[in-house]
Amino acid sequence: MENLILKLKEIAYNLSWSWSKDTVELFNDINPDFWNWSQHNPVMVMNEINPSYLEFILEKKNLGSRINSIYSDYKEYMTKSTYFEEKYFKSENPIIAYFSAEFGITECLKTYSGGLGVLSGDHMKSSSDLGIPLAGIGLAYNYGYFTQLINQNGWQTENYELNDFKNLPIYILRDENYIPVKVSVNFPGRTIFCQVWVAKIGRVKLYLLDTFIPENSVKDRRITDILYGGDNESRIMQEMILGIGGYRLLKKLGFDIKAYHLNEGHSAFLCFERIRDKMKTDNISYEEAKAKSYGSNIFTTHTPVPAGIDIFSKELFLKYFTEYAEKEVGVTPETLFYEGDLNKGQSDNDTFNMAYLAINNSKFINGVSKLHGQVSRDMWKLPETRSNIDHITNGVHIPSYVSISTNKLYTGYFSKNWKFDESIWSKIDIIPDEEIWALRHLNKHRLIQFCRERIKEKWISMGASKEKLEDAEFILKEDALTIGFARRFATYKRGTLIFSDLERLIRIVSDKKRPVQFIFSGKAHPKDEGGKNLISQIIAFTKNESLKNKIIFLDNYDINVARHLVEGCDLWLNNPRRPQEASGTSGMKVIANGGLNFSILDGWWDEAYAPGNGWKIDSLTDESIPQEQRDLYSSISLYDTLESEIIPAYYKRNRNGIPAEWIKMIKNSIRNLAGVYNTNRMVKDYCEKFYLKVS
Ligand SMILES: *Cc1c(COP(=O)(O)O)cnc(C)c1O
Repeated sequence: MENLILKLKEIAYNLSWSWSKDTVELFNDINPDFWNWSQHNPVMVMNEINPSYLEFILEKKNLGSRINSIYSDYKEYMTKSTYFEEKYFKSENPIIAYFSAEFGITECLKTYSGGLGVLSGDHMKSSSDLGIPLAGIGLAYNYGYFTQLINQNGWQTENYELNDFKNLPIYILRDENYIPVKVSVNFPGRTIFCQVWVAKIGRVKLYLLDTFIPENSVKDRRITDILYGGDNESRIMQEMILGIGGYRLLKKLGFDIKAYHLNEGHSAFLCFERIRDKMKTDNISYEEAKAKSYGSNIFTTHTPVPAGIDIFSKELFLKYFTEYAEKEVGVTPETLFYEGDLNKGQSDNDTFNMAYLAINNSKFINGVSKLHGQVSRDMWKLPETRSNIDHITNGVHIPSYVSISTNKLYTGYFSKNWKFDESIWSKIDIIPDEEIWALRHLNKHRLIQFCRERIKEKWISMGASKEKLEDAEFILKEDALTIGFARRFATYKRGTLIFSDLERLIRIVSDKKRPVQFIFSGKAHPKDEGGKNLISQIIAFTKNESLKNKIIFLDNYDINVARHLVEGCDLWLNNPRRPQEASGTSGMKVIANGGLNFSILDGWWDEAYAPGNGWKIDSLTDESIPQEQRDLYSSISLYDTLESEIIPAYYKRNRNGIPAEWIKMIKNSIRNLAGVYNTNRMVKDYCEKFYLKVS
């Protein structure tokens, strides 16, 4: 028995459980209430259940053989030979460092806000699957990103929940004498110390720096409190900890890092620290050290709009970097300041741009879709003398987003290890249409149950009566065409486009024979009034008598809500203003579950779409046409395609009650897209194009 509990603990402390459906089911079965209450955190479940009661449960529910089998699968995963060592070489220690301000691994670890973080998490997970010798560097946010609650007036409110690190699947990094490893960064007039939390993500590790320790003043302990919180000064402080502190940690651990990957510009101060270190160890000049580190920095940009980039005033920059420049690097503060300018002091710019710092110091630069690569080349016209901006299209870690039923279906038709077998997608036709259709029902059923539960919980918290709670059973219909729209509520994503012609929308959703329903979810940045306004408009529409129970909004979009949505929705809607969506990844998550995409030809969909594997929404990109007119044009295309193609295809059933044409599209989508738009392909691309090409 003791042995079983030790095995469970070991499994709980490696976040690879988060993409093993068997393990998630096991923790749920130990105690469903604790599992939900802990927000799906096995360490908390184990810590909260009294040990003798845990033993009692394991025995009573007869979980021993399941634990043993899951444990042996885990051991096999951790030790089997991998893609990287088979194709290249074996490396015990990491040789690639991946820096990111956010990492989204699983719902209980709130170190992410949205797409960028989820992508970083998926990058780590696929690196583990492929055996890439990579280490992640990020920050341990005490409060992470906010929890969203929509109040009675339909307005977003933000709640900051404390991350209870001691009860999470992470642990303090200690040296051989069991003493916590610490790194320091000098700030004006003081030194900031950080301790380090380690998250094991399968075979790779993520190191999270944390300033909440007694060595720092009460105020400085708060530096790593909130993801993207506070003002520019908190941002510059966080980014110094991430870039400079992160580099110092890798040094301290003695890793021989060959490639530094900057996922977005937040970590770009890393470039300064690499130069400083090279100057010292090789006893060379600033320019020589810069040239030497240039060939092994990789910068991935994620935003096609200049407003999405961190920019600091000269005054703020000099406040934090004057001493660092003069005392630590041994150059003038201006030398460092000009690194944040594309024209290196030629233009009389008085701001410091983090993306420019990264661009000026990285040989390898890429956008995150083919189209975004082009947009980035146009946005940052780099001199012809240097290598230009490339692209590697984003992906998703498929095992993390498939439902329990999807996993069972693929396991049955292929093997338990279908996740590691790229060849299965071309064999999708061996699964009969009936089975795909049955899967769609199971996945949608789970989603609808989830929506009703969440809304009921919310009603209970608002003091609803018993009768009112019974109304939850009328929310959504099991057999209606279900369309999902979930993402950050930024204005360019046009969250309310589907409401442009309310009469037409009401007609569509109210069709008795061919009903259509929508599920919305998403957060707006706390300071984005425009985004919050869009949410409140949607909330108002969900209360409209003709739309009620057919259009719903789920509070607090996070990885958990996202997973349920991408499992169950029949159709995934995305209608940004082209070309502002760099890639978009949520649409990729529906593919393996049998969902289809309906999107503007922007980001990944611009290269993935082909007739027969999903649908497109047209857009006018001529900037001389007023924006309103362009939005109207897209909304008409949206309604037209929905009414003339999508709804008929979904409701056209054959003699066995199956929509053969729809299922053919599902199979096309899986066959043509699942093998491409995933992070295993993406991480392999990063290896071949960049990681193994550094100098
Ligand atoms: C996948 C995901 C995103 C990113 O979705 P986009 O389509 O890129 O907007 C954001 N948030 C969560 C929680 C996700 O799971």
